[in-house]
Amino acid sequence: MELQSQVESNAASAAPEDVHVAKVGAEESLPVVPVVRTTKNFYDYTLPELEEILAGLGKEKFRAQQVFKWVYEKRVENFEEMSNVSKAFRAELPNIFHFDLPKVVAELKSKDGTRKWLFDIGDGMTIETVLIPNKERLTLCVSSEVGCNIACRFCFTGKQKLKRRLSAGQIVGQFLHAQDSLSKEDMRITNIVFMGMGEPLDNPDAVFRSIEILHQPNGINLSRKKITVSTSGLVPLMPLIAKAKVRLAVSLNAPNNEIRSFVMPINKKWDVHSLLGACLDYYKETGDRITFEYVLLKNVTDRLEQAKELWDMLKQAGLHNACKVNLIPFNEHPGSGFERPEPASVIAFQNELIRLGAHVLLRKTMGRDIFAACGQLTSKYEGRPERMTV
Ligand code: SAH
Ligand code: SF4
Repeated sequence: MELQSQVESNAASAAPEDVHVAKVGAEESLPVVPVVRTTKNFYDYTLPELEEILAGLGKEKFRAQQVFKWVYEKRVENFEEMSNVSKAFRAELPNIFHFDLPKVVAELKSKDGTRKWLFDIGDGMTIETVLIPNKERLTLCVSSEVGCNIACRFCFTGKQKLKRRLSAGQIVGQFLHAQDSLSKEDMRITNIVFMGMGEPLDNPDAVFRSIEILHQPNGINLSRKKITVSTSGLVPLMPLIAKAKVRLAVSLNAPNNEIRSFVMPINKKWDVHSLLGACLDYYKETGDRITFEYVLLKNVTDRLEQAKELWDMLKQAGLHNACKVNLIPFNEHPGSGFERPEPASVIAFQNELIRLGAHVLLRKTMGRDIFAACGQLTSKYEGRPERMTV
């Protein structure tokens, strides 16, 4: 019996040189034999890392830059098309690199301009990426993990234990697929937020590596200030965000320690005091305003007096002039135990913060028709993308 030629490309594991799995025979029931891939996934590496890999093979620095430009600027993956690369080197390249990206399972468009991509990353796992248009901005909300161990009570992703940390290439791949599709309509992604599925600081190696790739001026060339990492507050790792010189968003979600520990159990490990301390350090180092995300949960975090409590807490931490507050009315999902507040209490909460002097943003709910709420990406199609209907 012959080996089935199609190798199931499972770029899902974090290790750049990963084990891929090929099915033997046509029937599903036959055993699965691992096939070790000897080439590296090009998308997992920053430019300096690629230079190092090629230097190890006795190649000059500029060769990595040449290929990087072709891949990220011109979106060419076929080495033969890289006309300014020497023929001999072109012939060697397939023995060094391959190009595996998550596969697009579906692209959904909402009436309001929001789009969502569903990607297959292998092993029956899917991730979601959302594009949110807002005035002149096109913001892409990317996922960093499948599932999330932080287990915030109100979060749909948090209901599923961590299943996979994405590789840098799988994060960059979300951008590339989205941008490739938007390019056909002459649209350009202007901002990236790590507010999709997963906790970015639980997967720091891949996240910060992907940031370097997204920022690299020879390639995608996205400004660091247009990239935002949102965290639930893994305090010891927060300095990495300042070090990467990207923007910080923090899921605060409560006006005091007691409520925060209830809605976000991670607060028991690193409380509000240490979290806001880390935020102040970030502000002192970068001078950039921090975004505090605040999910409004009916009768839990949306009471009017809690707006004042929240503001006082930020004032006490010395952050009231260094931040904006992003109010997010809870996106309901079955079995969460929480409810979305009435629009009137959302507006009242917002007005109270404005009256106190806060810079407040109210996140509009967009893309409801395609389940595209950033931060509450549903895994409706998890593991069974073939049953997807639009
Ligand atoms: N793990 C990171 C980033 C992903 S969550 C973090 O927690 O910051 C992105 C944002 O979506 C967070 O601010 C989170 O509080 C919010 N969020 C999660 N579930 C939500 C829901 N059901 N309704 C509204 N916002 C939600
Ligand atoms: Fe994880 Fe963020 Fe959801 Fe909390 S809100 S469970 S940190 S994805």
